[in-house]
Amino acid sequence: MVAQWILSGSLILGFGAFVHLIENRIPLEQVNRKRDFAFDILFITLSSLMVAGMTIVLLDEFVMTWLNENLQFQQYILTLPLYLRLTFALILGDLGYYVAHRMMDTAPLWRTHKFHHSIREIYWFSGLRTSAMNSLIIRIPYLIALCAFGITQQEMAVVAIGLAAVNFWVHANANISLGRLNYLFITPAFHRIHHSMEARAEGTNFGHILSCWDYLFGTAIQVEETLVVSEKGFTIEREEVARQLIGI
Ligand SMILES: [Zn+2]
Ligand SMILES: [Zn+2]
Repeated sequence: MVAQWILSGSLILGFGAFVHLIENRIPLEQVNRKRDFAFDILFITLSSLMVAGMTIVLLDEFVMTWLNENLQFQQYILTLPLYLRLTFALILGDLGYYVAHRMMDTAPLWRTHKFHHSIREIYWFSGLRTSAMNSLIIRIPYLIALCAFGITQQEMAVVAIGLAAVNFWVHANANISLGRLNYLFITPAFHRIHHSMEARAEGTNFGHILSCWDYLFGTAIQVEETLVVSEKGFTIEREEVARQLIGI
């Protein structure tokens, strides 16, 4: 178990270091990575510990067992090859993420999500700044979908590394376009606009892995330079931090 945690952590950090180097070479905008680093180290650690605790108690011990026993699809779906089940599960989970994120961006769930939107300097590591409630809510759609398609807990551990890498990717300060695939997959610039304080960027670009949900449901806004470099980050007062960290 401990060896697995160390291996997962090393892989995630290794990918973070790789993104860091890409950011140095092709930045989207001028970002001061040191500005809030100490704050983020402290509060991301605290939030992660809370989520780890909640995940183990609520999800591993109760919800996942229930889902595994009750939510698996008919036998024929479980006979599909792993790559197909994983693809379907991620598509379904990502749709659920889109819906959950859209709900969190409006009242009354905004209180769970505001902490993430307080990031002023967006780069790969800063994207981890989320309240504990936020982290928990966005895990649920993926978890349900993965269980529904019969993905085992060991396979989920690998998926979790992949989803952490996606989080680094979408928050990377890296000027990377995927060409026509921009209409299918999220790029760093696309998600950066979601964090913009500009009025016309409000309520746009909610997706996590796939951008097609935003195009499909009319919430996509095209990448443009002025929005990418626009001001970001709600102010969180000192006395608000503890509440924001939990997300209540
Ligand atoms: Zn948001
Ligand atoms: Zn974000």
